[in-house]
Amino acid sequence: MTKLPVMEPSATAEDFINDTAIEDTLARARSADATWVREIIAKAMEKQPLAPQETAVLLGCEDKALHEEMFAAARKLKETVYGNRIVLFAPLYIGNRCVNDCTYCGFRSSNDDAIRRELERDTVVKQIKALEARGHKRLILVYGEHPDYDAHFIADSVRTVYQSGDIRRVNINAAPMDVEGYKVIKDAKIGTYQIFQETYHHQTYATVHNPKTRKGNFLWRLDGLSRAFDAGIDDLGVGALFGLYDWKFEVMGLVSHAAYLMKRHGVGPHTISFPRLKPAQGVEMDPRWNVTDEQFLRLVAILRLSVPYTGMICTAREPAHIRDTVLGFGVSQIDAGTNLDLGGYAEQGDSTVVQQHLDKSQFQLGDTRSLDEVVGKLVDKGYIPSFCTSCYRQGRTGEVFMEYAIPGFIQKLCTPNAITTFQEYLCDHASPAVRIQGEQMISDEVARIADPGVKQVVVDRLHQIRHQGKRDLYL
Ligand code: SAM
Ligand code: SF4
Repeated sequence: MTKLPVMEPSATAEDFINDTAIEDTLARARSADATWVREIIAKAMEKQPLAPQETAVLLGCEDKALHEEMFAAARKLKETVYGNRIVLFAPLYIGNRCVNDCTYCGFRSSNDDAIRRELERDTVVKQIKALEARGHKRLILVYGEHPDYDAHFIADSVRTVYQSGDIRRVNINAAPMDVEGYKVIKDAKIGTYQIFQETYHHQTYATVHNPKTRKGNFLWRLDGLSRAFDAGIDDLGVGALFGLYDWKFEVMGLVSHAAYLMKRHGVGPHTISFPRLKPAQGVEMDPRWNVTDEQFLRLVAILRLSVPYTGMICTAREPAHIRDTVLGFGVSQIDAGTNLDLGGYAEQGDSTVVQQHLDKSQFQLGDTRSLDEVVGKLVDKGYIPSFCTSCYRQGRTGEVFMEYAIPGFIQKLCTPNAITTFQEYLCDHASPAVRIQGEQMISDEVARIADPGVKQVVVDRLHQIRHQGKRDLYL
C-alpha cells in the first residue's frame, strides 16, 4: 500500500473565504435598487467578470421581473461567448474505496452496504470500449480518496484510458494532491483537474466532513487547485455541492474562488460545477438547505453573468427537463449516457436506458437518457453536440486559453471543431433518426459560417470524414 501525501497546505496557502464578510455582503446587497441591478447586468453583458459584491446584488434581488432580465441576459451572453455548441462527456468511476466519511456521499467510509472495488486494467479497457462504441471522446475519471489511489495509480489509469482506444481527453475529479503528485498526473497528459470545495462555509464544512478525516482539512482543499497550478496544471475546475448550506453563500464562494485564482495565477477556472445534492445510500439530506428548481435556475444564470469565460457543467444528477432548460442560459458542458455503477458501462450491454444500482453508485442519477437520445434532443433544440478535444491538445489552456476566449476567437475554432466532431459521431454512432436530423443541422450550420476561409476548411474536412474515412481532424 502506498501513502497519501502529508496534508500541509503550501506556504502560500491563503484562506480567502471570510464567512462573516460574505454574509454581510449578501445582507447589504438585499437593499440594492433596480437601477443598480440593471447596471450590473449591463456590465456582465460587456463580458466583464463581476466582482463578488456585484454577484451578491444579483443574488439579493427578489424581483421576478428582474429575474427574467437576468435569464435573458445570461442567454444572450452565453450565445455570444459559446455559440450554440454543447460539449459532451461521460464520467468513469475508477475506484470507490474511501477513507473519508462525507455525510452526503454514498461512498462514505461508514456506508457498509456499498460494494467496494476499483477497476483493474482489463476492466478499464472494457469500459473504454463500451464508451467508445457509444461515441464518447471525452471522459472524466472519478476516484475516492484512498492510499491505493495515489498519484501514480491515477496517472496509470489515465494512461490506460489513452492507450485503450480513441478517447482523446481525460479530465480528473479526485482528492487534492501535493505538488509532486500533481506533477506525476500532469505527465500523464490530463485535461482539467476538478476539485469541488463542497461547501465554502467553514462551519458547515466541519459538520459534514469529520475533522479527523483527510477531507476535514478545509484549507488543504481550498488550496488544492493553487498547488495544481504550481505544479504546471493550468486547466482547473472549481465546484460546490448545493444543498449543504445556503445556495447564495455557495455562489459567493465559487465566484470568490474564481476571482482568487485569476488574481493569484492570472488564470481563472476553466470550468465551474454546481451539483445539487442527490439521494444516496446511507445518506440523510438536511431539508433546510434544499435548493428548489427555481433557485437552481437563478443560480445558473447568475453564475453565467458573473464568470463569462468559465465553462459551466451540469451533470446527469439533474433531471432531463432541468438540464434541457439550463442549456439555454448558462451551461456549456453536459455528460450523457452516464452510468455511475463501477464497471457499469460494459456491464449494462446495449440497453439504452441506464440501469443504476445504488450500492455501486455514489448517488442517484436524475437523467438516465442514452447519449444518442441526448444528442437527438440537443439537435431538436438547435444546439450542436460537440465532441471537440482540440484546445488542450493544441496547448490552448490557462493564460493562452483566456487570450483566445476573450477576443471571441473561440467561435472561429470551436464551431468548426464542433461540426466536424459531430459529423464523426453521425457517421460512426448515431441512430438512423439522429443521423438524418444531424446531417440537416450540419448543412444549416455550414451555411451560417461567415468567414469564407473557415467555411472552406470545414467543407473539405466534412468531405474527408464522410467519404475518405478520416477522423480526428481539428483546428
Ligand atoms: N473523492 C473525491 C473528492 O471528494 O474530492 C472525488 C470526488 S467525488 C467522487 C465527486 C463529487 O461528487 C464530490 O466532490 C461531491 O461534490 C459530489 N457528490 C458526492 N455525494 C453526492 C451526492 N449525494 N449528490 C450529488 N453529488 C455528490
Ligand atoms: Fe470519499 Fe469523495 Fe465521497 Fe467524500 S465525496 S466520501 S471523499 S468519494
